[in-house]
Amino acid sequence: MRGVVMHAPGDVRVEDREDPRIVEPTDAVIRVAAACVCGSDLWPYRGVEEVAGRPMGHEYVGVVEQVGDQVRDVKVGEFVVGSFFASDNTCEICRAGYQSRCVHAEPVGALGTQAQFARIPLADGTLVATPGMPDADLVPGLLAASDVLGTGWFGAVAAESGPGKTVAVVGDGAVGLLGVLAARRLGAERVVIFSRHADRQRLAREFGATDVIAERGDQGVAALKELTGGLGAHSVIEAVGTQESMMQAIRSTRPGGHVGYVGVAHGVELPGKELFFSGVHLHGGPAPVRRFLPELVELIWNREIDPGKVFDLTLPLEEAAEGYKAMDERRAIKTLLRP
Ligand SMILES: [Zn+2]
Repeated sequence: MRGVVMHAPGDVRVEDREDPRIVEPTDAVIRVAAACVCGSDLWPYRGVEEVAGRPMGHEYVGVVEQVGDQVRDVKVGEFVVGSFFASDNTCEICRAGYQSRCVHAEPVGALGTQAQFARIPLADGTLVATPGMPDADLVPGLLAASDVLGTGWFGAVAAESGPGKTVAVVGDGAVGLLGVLAARRLGAERVVIFSRHADRQRLAREFGATDVIAERGDQGVAALKELTGGLGAHSVIEAVGTQESMMQAIRSTRPGGHVGYVGVAHGVELPGKELFFSGVHLHGGPAPVRRFLPELVELIWNREIDPGKVFDLTLPLEEAAEGYKAMDERRAIKTLLRP
């Protein structure tokens, strides 16, 4: 089969890779219908993370081709959406809603879903089948549920977004934009996004943002305080993962408020004394997308939400390198790849 391999920063190639097969009796093999490039794939692409010959991709939707002997619920021929961590969905951590930290969790990114086929471990606990074969226009939305929507949703939940709340979103990538959508669906009254890019501001407003702040860092915090009677937001979604974005999130949150941080942290160090006196709640981490998948699939299937709008570039799998480049250069918000 063909699949994406990153050999070094900036060096993305589509190559012949070994066809996946059932290894464990709990595995499934899927024919990938659509995959995509994640903002987190840009960390190694930009040389921030070590990379040498790594298969790429952890977001996926597709049709089940084969299942192992112990797979009970997932059936050959079903269209499925899965999360970027395989989980058994039965252990104590999973049952508490933290499937990305399942005691048997396996990162799907290590297997690489930017490919024609993929092996998915722990199929019954990882995959959610759609009610039938989706219309073509639903596929991008379902693919978004696999990571960016599920992650934005977790950010909004972790930040305790809800009725009467003002929610601020740090980061205008796909996760931040879908955090806006999630915050609104959860009932937030006001949703403020920090963004300097006209196309992303427009999409944020489509997803329900009520206010846009173009400043960042401490100037952004000051602008947000001005909007909120000097108090700061009740809830802040952090969807970047840098020192600046994390501090902007904490400083944008009012005392007693909540930060939901879902940007993969790179070099973030928190000043203890400032954190102590801030009085804010911090919760986040790798999103337990599997917790939210059944609900998100239903919302998309019933056309109540359209998170697929974050894909503004669609390319054949063979042109994956251009998909990475376009996102790196911020010409695209998110690239969908068609195997
Ligand atoms: Zn588990």
